[in-house]
Amino acid sequence: MYWEKEFETIERKKLEKLQLERLKKTILDAGKAPFYKQLYQQKGITADKLKHIDDIRQLPFTTKQDLRNHFPYGFLSRPKQEIIRLHSSSGTTGNPTVIFHNRHDISSWSNLMARSLFCAGIRDTDVFQNICGYGLFTGGLGFQYGIERLGCLSIPAGAGNSLRQIKLMQDYGTTVVHAIPSYLGRLYEVFQAEGLDPRKDTDLRLFVIGAEPHTEEQRQRIEELFGVKAYNSFGLSEMNGPGVAFECTHQAGLHIWEDAYLVEILDPETLEPVPDGEIGELVMTTLDREAMPLVRYRTRDLTRIIPGSCACGRTHARIDRIAGRSDDMFIIKGCNVFPMQIEGVLLKIPEVGSDYLITLEHVDGVDEMIVEVEVRRDWFNGDITRLDRLSRMITHQIRDEVLAKPIVKLVEPGSLPKSEGKAIRVNDKRVLDTVKI
Ligand code: ADP
Ligand code: ZN
Repeated sequence: MYWEKEFETIERKKLEKLQLERLKKTILDAGKAPFYKQLYQQKGITADKLKHIDDIRQLPFTTKQDLRNHFPYGFLSRPKQEIIRLHSSSGTTGNPTVIFHNRHDISSWSNLMARSLFCAGIRDTDVFQNICGYGLFTGGLGFQYGIERLGCLSIPAGAGNSLRQIKLMQDYGTTVVHAIPSYLGRLYEVFQAEGLDPRKDTDLRLFVIGAEPHTEEQRQRIEELFGVKAYNSFGLSEMNGPGVAFECTHQAGLHIWEDAYLVEILDPETLEPVPDGEIGELVMTTLDREAMPLVRYRTRDLTRIIPGSCACGRTHARIDRIAGRSDDMFIIKGCNVFPMQIEGVLLKIPEVGSDYLITLEHVDGVDEMIVEVEVRRDWFNGDITRLDRLSRMITHQIRDEVLAKPIVKLVEPGSLPKSEGKAIRVNDKRVLDTVKI
């Protein structure tokens, strides 16, 4: 069952033809935006020189810094009166990244969202509660338009206030929830505190989780706690937001919608393509956006193309869950570490709760990695040797995974600071420490 069979199961040859047509149009459109106009004139780039989709490799990249430098309207390829919406990042450091959409763009994005939700098994009979900020963040309105296009009963719940979220679920018989994975562990704790069991006391059957890095272990936990299937949703504001890549019911990687995005996986150092199956940086070009096309946008997200075809019959390539962002990686004691490696270790341990925080700091002249881990409340009943043993076990397992020995501190559930939106997993105090010295 497909939302748009013709596009979702399109033969590769036909897909490539469609991509080339759309790429040419994209370059034509992009050339009207001040940023690309200057760049393409300087380099003699024109749409008619593109003969094959691989010719994309001759075009220059676009970075987040370019978007910031040309804030706010430097990437606009249509007159302002045609624009109907903007979304933007928080911009706590420097200019925010802002993306503009015209009617066509919003409609195309809504359709991709509906296609994505349908592909994960969501139907118009579902009651869909969207636990996501409805503002400049794309997870609110992006999902809202897709849910409506699909025809579910939508509950635009917004983020936070867990008691109210639970009440909404119970009042209206919510069957599907979209939320960021780090929030769902906390939501479960609220269910427990209220003496409720989501498996018995709600009609929940399916979750959509995404917008932040998470491991397979975290997904499995969420599925077990709530008795639901949880599907991975990937997107970034620069590529609209959610609806870029989504898992189908086979949960075997995320179909990345190649009729709307041209996908490259490149070695982040050499910027040359890596073979399918190997991890590299995801670089994307919009193929169906009019107001603000982006060409070869460097996402910094690290992933790989999963070789082979999917049992669902969709022909669009699948990407693996995001291994991390190239700017997430930190170096401690000479070892390169991704936070998700640590999460993978922690969430395999049943005693570990839903939150953890990695702090990097100078302690007595050496760099240390302190990992604070929430563990189940009943472990704090005075049995210090038991806690000690657990802490040693976690220390060894992290060291085996990342090769640097951490200082592990076990803390009570709920005691680590909670962020409003996406979880903050790493607090690197070393820069500050250096400044103080
Ligand atoms: P910001 O850059 O301000 O966080 P976005 O909301 O556009 O704004 O965030 C997009 C980023 O979020 C992606 O580039 C990626 O790093 C991360 N992300 C989104 N969805 C997922 C997912 N399913 N798994 C892992 N990371 C994700
Ligand atoms: Zn599939």
